Amino acid sequence: KKVADRYLKREVLGEGTYGVVYKAIDTKTGQTVAIKKIRLGKQKEGVNFTALREIKLLKELKDPNIIELIDAFPHKGNLHLVFEFMETDLEAVIRDRNIVLSPADIKSYIQMTLKGLAFCHRKWVLHRDMKPNNLLIGPGGQLKLADFGLARIFGSPDRRFTHQVFARWYRAPELLFGAKQYGPGVDVWAAACIFAELLLRRPFLQPLQWPDMVYLPDYVEYQHVPGQPLRTLFPMASDDALDLLSKMFTYDPKARISAQQALEHRYFSSIPPPTEPALLPRPP
Ligand code: ADP
Repeated sequence: KKVADRYLKREVLGEGTYGVVYKAIDTKTGQTVAIKKIRLGKQKEGVNFTALREIKLLKELKDPNIIELIDAFPHKGNLHLVFEFMETDLEAVIRDRNIVLSPADIKSYIQMTLKGLAFCHRKWVLHRDMKPNNLLIGPGGQLKLADFGLARIFGSPDRRFTHQVFARWYRAPELLFGAKQYGPGVDVWAAACIFAELLLRRPFLQPLQWPDMVYLPDYVEYQHVPGQPLRTLFPMASDDALDLLSKMFTYDPKARISAQQALEHRYFSSIPPPTEPALLPRPP
């Protein structure tokens, strides 16, 4: 079935935060794409105007480490966002027990993540919902950030009552404590969690050994980096890696290192150099 006379729908890829994602063929270019169908819901009109204006801006966000938004159009009451198709994501890499990540591989993945972040932050766009399954990996091993700017347009759904409760592992303390104003530091914090997760191969801030705790009436969200020195938690990491990690895990968002400063940290110029994307290990 064709959508908007241009895209041939194939199978469903999955159900995400905002709606269903389909694989499709762009008949204009022959390219395989991913189409995100976003239910506009009640405030249809309002969302339409602001969303379409903001989405126009997202289409201009072009960078090798950002998923390209190829097209956007309303169709049958849903908003369709067309993205370049990506083969896998960083979550699949982290979870695959057969994959060994060398220090150079980790450096490469985190460098590509920070490059994408720094680019968007320069354009004053925040991600707000960074997590390993939003870091997509293309055929050439390139890591690209997905869903940039969508949280601002469509809202970051409160995941308390959904299966996605785990996405909160990546939330910066200022978000958990309900700050009305926050900045690019929220994405740097999430990148720190992902960095730690690459080193440990499991989510780092996983204090919730008791997931149902969040349903209790007096539950307050909290996030705390364990009091022990990072060195004891990451015995295998280099001094440079730990120094950068601790600067990204700074509680005070004003004192937290920026994505651009992180890229200039000596971790990225010291040995080993980051692995070439094409040589990075990937799931089969
Ligand atoms: P979430 O909101 O939970 O992050 P998404 O809406 O981004 O989920 O994605 C839902 C599903 O669609 C996931 O399985 C994801 O891997 C897949 N997907 C999303 N974007 C793309 C893309 N550009 N290429 C290939 N698969 C994608």
